[in-house]
Amino acid sequence: MDLGGPRSVPTPPKSNHQPKVLLGKYELGRFIGCGSFAKVYFARSLADGTGVAVKVLDKSQVLSTGMEPRVLCEVSAMRRLSHPNIVKLHEVMATKSKIYLIMEYAAGGDLLSRLGRRRRIPEPAARHYVQQLVAALSYCHAHGVAHRDIKPQNLLLDGDGNLKVSDFGFSALPDQLRDDGRLHTACGTPAFTAPEVVCRKGYDGAKADAWSCGVILFVLLAGSLPFDDANLAQMYRAIYKRAYAFPKGMSGSARRLVARLLDPNPETRMTIGDLADHPWLKRSLSLDSSLMESAQPDEALAPPAMNAFDIIALSSALDLSGLFDDDRNRKKRFTSTASVERIMRRMEEMGMKLGFSVERRNGGGVGMGRWGSVVLVVEVAEVAAPLLLVELKVEVGSGGDGEGFGWEELRAGLGDIVSAWHGSEV
Ligand code: ADP
Ligand code: MG
Repeated sequence: MDLGGPRSVPTPPKSNHQPKVLLGKYELGRFIGCGSFAKVYFARSLADGTGVAVKVLDKSQVLSTGMEPRVLCEVSAMRRLSHPNIVKLHEVMATKSKIYLIMEYAAGGDLLSRLGRRRRIPEPAARHYVQQLVAALSYCHAHGVAHRDIKPQNLLLDGDGNLKVSDFGFSALPDQLRDDGRLHTACGTPAFTAPEVVCRKGYDGAKADAWSCGVILFVLLAGSLPFDDANLAQMYRAIYKRAYAFPKGMSGSARRLVARLLDPNPETRMTIGDLADHPWLKRSLSLDSSLMESAQPDEALAPPAMNAFDIIALSSALDLSGLFDDDRNRKKRFTSTASVERIMRRMEEMGMKLGFSVERRNGGGVGMGRWGSVVLVVEVAEVAAPLLLVELKVEVGSGGDGEGFGWEELRAGLGDIVSAWHGSEV
């Protein structure tokens, strides 16, 4: 079965060279796996000997591919989540060229590798994973985070076979919030991604996660993907026609559950809350109270949602000034807790004051121009509710390099809506 996407490649530990110590704190061990943007290694804490996973991101690659918001999303989402079925982020470290996310180590590898050996798994085992996935996602959604990239590669197992959701790089809210307040960023992996996401209609991240749960449940019970076509148009035709075949031996209750989750219409699709209450999922929970306990979010341990100060502390940990300082005059960023509408309105007012013609753009941003050419574009991305990252970009080809743009006045006029400027100060 090919579930698509990157695979983890087990490699034997190399012992013929000096161990590499990371910033004096972790001894770097074997390579565990790689995704689209990162390499992950096993490492041991020099302080107490515990094993951790280190996700290594290359700063220049992050920059050149415009993935800074994704890294911020990942870090801020993981920092605000504390749940037994979610991989914990212990700390973030950075050097001039790399970013290191130090995470809880999941010794059992990812669910894709687990399935690779067994193909389909019996219903009680599938139920065990889906119960834990649902516990993690209910907790995420209650804390304002949608994962948006649920697939077997991102579901890890610890040494006891407990599921740990990882890879929050597409989580939280999107690159572009439009006027309807919905998400519009196509993300994730097509075979696991809800149709409304790929079609770039506005969508609800929690409902998209419910779709992915349906695909996961199908994959666990059938050993193959419900929809699998290299031709995406064909695949979406199949999705809308609900054209998938259940394997022999799958129970009626599981079939009905899959059908309710793989509903192409997000309005009528089963929600994660309904899934949590579904008899198929609840069966055997009473028999296994320890599982129930471990699936309960531990509210006492959960950190409060991030505030602006956390984000600023986090930004310095990530060394975002280095990350963002790509072009001092062309790009400025600040974080804000004001609403998108308030920020945009203020930008419009300031633009007009500075003598620009101002227009709302399709993506929800604001453009400012002079003599027919666009000079400045303003875009807002939500990093971690209620914190927004606002990016001001002097458009390439506008003839200016941002020098003498009027940054000083702009900064003064934005005053109270700015939590902190990132990268170069205005
Ligand atoms: P990307 O964001 O590039 O997709 P991931 O965070 O998904 O990277 O990590 C890539 C792979 O590394 C995963 O599929 C998994 O096999 C492995 N991995 C990631 N985090 C851990 C962890 N905490 N413990 C063990 N293995 C991990
Ligand atoms: Mg991944």
